[in-house]
Amino acid sequence: MTDQTTTIAQVKELIEKFRKKRGWTKEDPKDLALSLVLESAELLEHFQWLKGEDVEKNQRIKEAIGEEMSDVLWWLANLGQKLGIDMAEAFERKMAKNAVKYPEEIFHPNLTKEEKDRAYYKIKAATRGGHPLYTPEEEK
Ligand SMILES: [Mg+2]
Repeated sequence: MTDQTTTIAQVKELIEKFRKKRGWTKEDPKDLALSLVLESAELLEHFQWLKGEDVEKNQRIKEAIGEEMSDVLWWLANLGQKLGIDMAEAFERKMAKNAVKYPEEIFHPNLTKEEKDRAYYKIKAATRGGHPLYTPEEEK
């Protein structure tokens, strides 16, 4: 299996077969969501006290991270299956929202970090009713 040749549907099917053979079919969606977060925390443990560049260079840690990412994928796909959510469709809809929320013109790579940060806080302020790092008076 590779990312290039495996679909989300195939991942869901593998998980479903694995679960059914073991009688793991009655989970509450709440428990699946909780397990997703727990596995995400296990993923984070591999970064604790290390710099990102140290992790990037260490094959053993990257293999362990891959295992935790697989656990996260397991619970995510399992939750999608349980709730009847088409993950690719949901992802496509969310990406369309992100494109509106984070316009390319505002987050252009040629902008300074300060300009990008300011645009980000402005958007956060607009969507959350304010942001401590954004003050409209500073707009030029
Ligand atoms: Mg794990």
